[in-house]
Amino acid sequence: MSVEIGTPLSASATRVLLLGAGELGKEVAIELQRLGAEVVVVDRYPDAPAMQVAHRSYAVDMLDPAALRAVIELERPHVVVPEVEAIATDVLADVEDAGVRVVPTARATRLTMDREGIRRLAAEELGLPTSPYRFVDTGQELATAAAELGYPCVLKPVMSSSGKGQSVLHGPDDVDRAWRYAQEGGRAGGGRCIVEGFVRFDSEITLLTVRHAQGTSFLPPVGHIQVDGDYRESWQPAALPAAALARAQDVAGRITGALGGWGLFGVELFVVGEDVVFSEVSPRPHDTGMVTMVSQDLSEFALHARAVLGLPAGGAETLGEPAAASCAVLAEGSGVPRFAGVDEALAVPTSQVRLFGKPSVSGRRRVAVTLARGQDVAQARQRARDAAAALRITLD
Ligand code: AMP
Repeated sequence: MSVEIGTPLSASATRVLLLGAGELGKEVAIELQRLGAEVVVVDRYPDAPAMQVAHRSYAVDMLDPAALRAVIELERPHVVVPEVEAIATDVLADVEDAGVRVVPTARATRLTMDREGIRRLAAEELGLPTSPYRFVDTGQELATAAAELGYPCVLKPVMSSSGKGQSVLHGPDDVDRAWRYAQEGGRAGGGRCIVEGFVRFDSEITLLTVRHAQGTSFLPPVGHIQVDGDYRESWQPAALPAAALARAQDVAGRITGALGGWGLFGVELFVVGEDVVFSEVSPRPHDTGMVTMVSQDLSEFALHARAVLGLPAGGAETLGEPAAASCAVLAEGSGVPRFAGVDEALAVPTSQVRLFGKPSVSGRRRVAVTLARGQDVAQARQRARDAAAALRITLD
């Protein structure tokens, strides 16, 4: 099979529609453009990071089927690449039926758009190891489910990410507070939640897995630390027992195989001794995988771009020093960010920064990431943290 790519902005253009224009989408857009694609991006607000590098962009509500359909009809993309979960996935099924490639597949985007679809597929259909769980629709159901699962347990809206609405319950007294918090934090304004038994893991990893025209490839595991359900630091390679790595690859191969299609997936796993527990999967680049921008010749974004265009994406090589790390930079408050100390951040050996260009902050928002390499994970993490500490953010 020969893959042909046309010329952007001409009749032969290979048009890719990216749904979601955040910092991860921005990197995907850049990588697609390096391969000659015409890149059109959509997000719900103007001037989003990926819009700043795209050929064209639209600010529309992607949960609105009519609005999403209108953009697709206007742009007639060859490939649709969802970069966020909040999308009217029925539209994607119709688009796929009409012969457009949806990444990785319309069904996979539907199953992963909420925690219920993917958890039922992983645990009930594939029999993968997961935390024990229940789905609950009311505070009363939560009280019953938590008593059955035991404390501590974790409550999350099924439609949420980055820790929004998520909290740990330590006993029955926490039920009301946790339920109210979840109802405020869900993407769709509350509703159904999952309550999970608390996993006392040794570490958590993301196993970046690429399904491409030549098969399935695994990247070295990425370790990470989450605070309030949101990633703060990641590093590669994560140290874990050989048996756990083999199990992680087996689980990742099975879940990504069941989702199908081409693209890069972030498979989130808890490591408990030599065992792994499946947590979730993103059918797209993962925030913890930003570390691959300095650890490998082909980042997770480059691999995703290759895979979605039907190109080989198997042979990523580790670069330079044996370890690499990333550190998220958060801004808190309200206003338009300005960054001082960028020169100081870049004076840290091997460091790089990515300033996302988010147009404004309201509350707490990730606005940049620092990246570094090192002789070992400890050194790489320290450098990434030092670079992050050098950045001083003002909100105008
Ligand atoms: P999630 O949004 O599901 O990826 O959860 C965010 C983070 O919360 C995870 O990366 C873990 O650090 C923590 N977490 C989520 N679920 C559990 C669980 N069942 N047991 C222990 N920690 C959890």
